Amino acid sequence: MRQQVHLYNSIKRKKELFESINDKRVGIYVCGPTVYGPAHVGHARSAITFDVIIRYLNCCGYNVKFIRNYTDVGHLEHDADDGDDKVAKQARNEHVDPMEIAQRYINSYRRDMQLLNILPPNIEPQASGYIQEQIAITEDIISKGFAYERNGSVYFDVRKYHNEYGTYGILSGRNIDELQQETRRLNNQSEKNYFADFALWKVATPQHIMQWKSPWGMGFPGWHTECVALGYKYLGKLFDIHGGGIDLKFPHHECEIAQSQIAFGSNLAKYWIHNNLVNIRDQKMSKSLNNFITLQDLFDGTSTVLSRPFAPMVLRFLILQTHYRSTIDISETALKSAEIGYYKLINSLKILEEIQSCDDNKTSEQEINEIITNNIESCFESLNDDFNTAKCLASLFDISKILNDLANSKISIHDLGNNNMSLIKANYPFIIKEILGLDAHDLVRQKEYIDLIMKLYIQAKNDKNYNQVDFIRNNLRMMGIKICDYKNSSSWNYGEK
Ligand SMILES: [Zn+2]
Repeated sequence: MRQQVHLYNSIKRKKELFESINDKRVGIYVCGPTVYGPAHVGHARSAITFDVIIRYLNCCGYNVKFIRNYTDVGHLEHDADDGDDKVAKQARNEHVDPMEIAQRYINSYRRDMQLLNILPPNIEPQASGYIQEQIAITEDIISKGFAYERNGSVYFDVRKYHNEYGTYGILSGRNIDELQQETRRLNNQSEKNYFADFALWKVATPQHIMQWKSPWGMGFPGWHTECVALGYKYLGKLFDIHGGGIDLKFPHHECEIAQSQIAFGSNLAKYWIHNNLVNIRDQKMSKSLNNFITLQDLFDGTSTVLSRPFAPMVLRFLILQTHYRSTIDISETALKSAEIGYYKLINSLKILEEIQSCDDNKTSEQEINEIITNNIESCFESLNDDFNTAKCLASLFDISKILNDLANSKISIHDLGNNNMSLIKANYPFIIKEILGLDAHDLVRQKEYIDLIMKLYIQAKNDKNYNQVDFIRNNLRMMGIKICDYKNSSSWNYGEK
């Protein structure tokens, strides 16, 4: 049965029932990275947020078409209309072709996303491959009288748009008069007619490496035009969901909406979703504070902010423990406690795999019955309520407690009963792995080898070869595996390093 999903629509500033434009198909566009440096934990948060949204909509029976772009041209420093192109600047610093920079960081972004178990998009367009499409949108806006050419650049006429439509600020809530007061102090001589006008096309100086022919001379597209052109090309004039980090609301998404209003008569997307930002040890992440954590450093243990590596799934778990619209703080302490939580969850999946169902028809304990039914229901209720993964995880932990009680013989398989067992088996791994994407590929492969080492451990124990017993125990512990000895048996768990 299709779930009734309610989501927070940024443009309406309230939660709404999700009703797709087409009955079965859902179009989602998410702003991808500007590929001039390695991906960091902020990129991970946005990717994980939309990955769960896509996975959940898939689970609800929608056929999701997901587009995520790579910005390889036109994104200038400080998100402004003047300044250096971020990719071109990096290329100049390294004396290589800008496309080499873009390709290097596209490759590393894909690798990081794969490690985080992010489903790949259906289409991953690179902005530089769609110059004609961006020129076409710019020409269309000029022909409708809402953009003007100045010295080879083209600017969107925000004053005219705001006077006629009154909707500049519809998404971000920014007030144009207040913005003007803020900008007046900063603005020097500008070729724009109005302070809030933004570039659809920029003239290129001869030294500028990436430039293309246009009706206005040699130049390159403005950053805000790229996502309008790509969203329209692959999803149409109005699609279901446009997503991105909250830092993109203004000016990027506000400017996308203004262009789309003129070009297509729509807000581009019916629902706008924004994930909140990441703090590092209670401070905004920034290069100047030297608290930037790249994903590669986090996974390899080479970050200056952390003392050791953390697995990609631990970061995924930590991010899912907070609702996507709240800020999240990443620190060594937070990662360590997420690690404990994550392994608890994965150990409970291991317990579930190893349980044999009982064949009697004894009725299960009423109390256990309620815990299981209510918590599975509440997992779906939480996800239906604006994709609340934090609440969903809390319900999963209530079920994991029962599985642990079973493993520790505090309750018996008869107390649990076959119906409950079937309910858990049908839903529990599905929610953890398929919806939350907490799939421990690396651990699954490891499991066979650990089982084999455990046979050697038990053999050594039976032979009273205690040197060998200690050797295996200590080495497994260093790999994050904890051996548990009982009177007549031994087993193992994923545990803290
Ligand atoms: Zn964008």
